[in-house]
Amino acid sequence: MTTHEGSTTGYSKQLPIIHPANAGYWAALKNHELRLQRCSACSTLRYPASPVCYQCMSTGEATWELLSGKGTLTSWIVVERATGNPAWSEDIPHVVAYVDLDEGPRLTTNIVETDPYTLTAGMRVEVVFDDVTPEVTLAKFRPAS
Ligand SMILES: [Zn+2]
Repeated sequence: MTTHEGSTTGYSKQLPIIHPANAGYWAALKNHELRLQRCSACSTLRYPASPVCYQCMSTGEATWELLSGKGTLTSWIVVERATGNPAWSEDIPHVVAYVDLDEGPRLTTNIVETDPYTLTAGMRVEVVFDDVTPEVTLAKFRPAS
């Protein structure tokens, strides 16, 4: 994901660049829904969003399918030092993780609302929505209730 700094919004961490191919993903998150493109030609869920299907190379229609928001933690790191952007220092330690969604795609995300040192491979997680600016909501995950 290409990012830029959000310094004009008061949020000083990286923000996504929203473009026509991924606008549906970000619009859904703003509504607190996790949606991914489903290719109308071959039914593959596309992540990241793309104007071209990775599976069948179709440039045709895709729908924005509402997902369960449930998944499995497969791999993670606990970040203990902020390097680069000092804005991250307020979040130390924080977790960068791979979550395999129940519908298939693997998201790179953060695990929140738990002690980072209690995570276990295979634990069930669920999406939470972090409204970081008026325009941008990030999908993060917490242990499933
Ligand atoms: Zn396809």
